[in-house]
Amino acid sequence: MLLSVVVPCHDEERVLPELVAQVTAVMQDIPADFEFVLVDDGSRDRTVQVLQELNARDPRVRYVSLSRNFGKESAMLAGLAYARGDAVVIMDADLQHPPRLLKQMLELFEQGHDQVVARRDREGDAFGRSLLARVYYKLVNSLVEVRIEDGVGDFRLLSRRAVDALLQLGEYNRFSKGLFAWIGFPTATIDYRNEARFGGDASRWTLRRLLNYGIDGVMSFNNAPLRLAIYVGLVVTMLAFGYAGYLVVAAVVGGIVVPGYVTLVAAVIGLGGLQLLFLGVIGEYVGRIYYESKHRPHFLVAAASDELSRAEAVRRAPARRTTVLMGNWVAPEAQADVDRGYVRPPVPADRRSTR
Ligand code: UDP
Ligand code: MG
Repeated sequence: MLLSVVVPCHDEERVLPELVAQVTAVMQDIPADFEFVLVDDGSRDRTVQVLQELNARDPRVRYVSLSRNFGKESAMLAGLAYARGDAVVIMDADLQHPPRLLKQMLELFEQGHDQVVARRDREGDAFGRSLLARVYYKLVNSLVEVRIEDGVGDFRLLSRRAVDALLQLGEYNRFSKGLFAWIGFPTATIDYRNEARFGGDASRWTLRRLLNYGIDGVMSFNNAPLRLAIYVGLVVTMLAFGYAGYLVVAAVVGGIVVPGYVTLVAAVIGLGGLQLLFLGVIGEYVGRIYYESKHRPHFLVAAASDELSRAEAVRRAPARRTTVLMGNWVAPEAQADVDRGYVRPPVPADRRSTR
């Protein structure tokens, strides 16, 4: 039994030695082998050198260094692609995800859970922020087809088949909270107390980033905003007909009264605003299609602790598959995915329906 600990790291030179020490200490009491997959996400500090040092000291500390900052989602994906374990734990570098939970996570994994999720309480958060979070999750869950829980983040254990399932989801816009919920499988939850960031830095989540993340959450998992546009359009049209009828009747009964300037301006401005709003919504979806249709890889690797694993990871990274199956030709590196049932082989030309 091998456990992989995947950690996305962006400018984390100060915490990494401490993180590795703490996890290694915890793993001493656990009857399982482990490896680290530390993913340097384009750090500007000495993170890469620190990773090299840690790897030289203990080869179980593997690392991957991405060619630039691709964001946490991509870094996590790279880590999953490189991980070789029968189970994979994803955790943050800053020790906000307490390593002592690993033991309990593994126990629940052994009992047959494919996902073991750590849920933090909101103790110590600013009141405004926790209120915002609660409202946000209420809203998202009323829209989205999968259930997304408050306080549940990326800190979780995934079984091999859960990891493989995630690697099959090739979308470019990765909203992992939604993806984790989407793959399903038996899931267990454990609660933990929220910890302060090691080193005391504040969270890097600014209000603007949170807002963008919120929009991502709503957009990436459903077309409810488009539905909303249809409903609003219907209601406004009906109101307009009603009002027009009223105006006609009023003109017949009371004669023509010209003033109506306020109504006119309000209608023009209000409808103009609504149209812009929903144009934005449609634009957002089109933008997503634009990015998806490029089929760019999710990340580029600049260096890794072991070359062998790099070939393996390239083969597993999801974006690749869309480009190696063309016509009835299967690229050699995609054959393994076809064999494993990850992708359907293309239908040979002579067996394709002509309709
Ligand atoms: N991270 C990353 N790439 C980024 C930003 C963050 O890999 O562009 C990593 C970071 O090193 C950390 C984790 O993602 O391990 C969470 O980041 P942070 O602590 O800043 O976020 P928060 O805990 O406030 O959600
Ligand atoms: Mg953090």
